[in-house]
Amino acid sequence: MNQRPKVFLTIDDGPSAGSMELLNTLQSLSIDAIFFCVGASLQRHFDEAVEIAKRGFLIGNHSWDHPHFSKINIAEAREQILQTEAMIQKVYEAAGTVRLYKAFRFPYGDRGAGNSSFQKCFEWAVPHTYALAKMVRALGFTGPQFISPPPNHPSFLDRGVDWFWSIDPKDWQWLDENPISIDEAMRSIPFQNFDPRRTEILLLHDQHRSKTMRAQALVHLASHVDFLKFAHLVT
Ligand SMILES: [Zn+2]
Repeated sequence: MNQRPKVFLTIDDGPSAGSMELLNTLQSLSIDAIFFCVGASLQRHFDEAVEIAKRGFLIGNHSWDHPHFSKINIAEAREQILQTEAMIQKVYEAAGTVRLYKAFRFPYGDRGAGNSSFQKCFEWAVPHTYALAKMVRALGFTGPQFISPPPNHPSFLDRGVDWFWSIDPKDWQWLDENPISIDEAMRSIPFQNFDPRRTEILLLHDQHRSKTMRAQALVHLASHVDFLKFAHLVT
């Protein structure tokens, strides 16, 4: 197969003390990304957050302090999102740039039914997931329109509301203090299984402790896949 996999990059749980380095890596490789940021971290690392927006990356909402949404009620969930929205607003004002799009990702991918693969199989049967999806939609969030998952894919249920992911290499396990080889890291991203008709959503983390390994992985990935631009996806 000659076609390179099409991948859109999402980066969770930032900003962090490692964000600046990550931004430099992404820019040097011309890779676009949505940063799904936690409100409390936007407050703590405000300068890094402003830099993310200034350099044209998109900041998405990933709740205020990363709770399991299956364990909080609708009012609490709404507050988690709105508090973070207010912080995102401040970041964009400070950056002097326009937020092009409202994207939301549930912490742990827990849409209200839990986040184990077993629980995810049955989330369609849990009323809380529908109530949460309705609330998120009412706040003006839109999920990726480009992904065409098969009906049993976990991102199918709430298509059009939240940004799930299709590839999770568990990069939070790649620690600079105890590095693994790039080949080993890449084993968790199965290139041979990519479907050229699909756009994959890759999940990485803005984690200070894995910044060197993550940079190496991005350099490696950039030579094997086509990273898509956000602007190209929303127009
Ligand atoms: Zn997260």
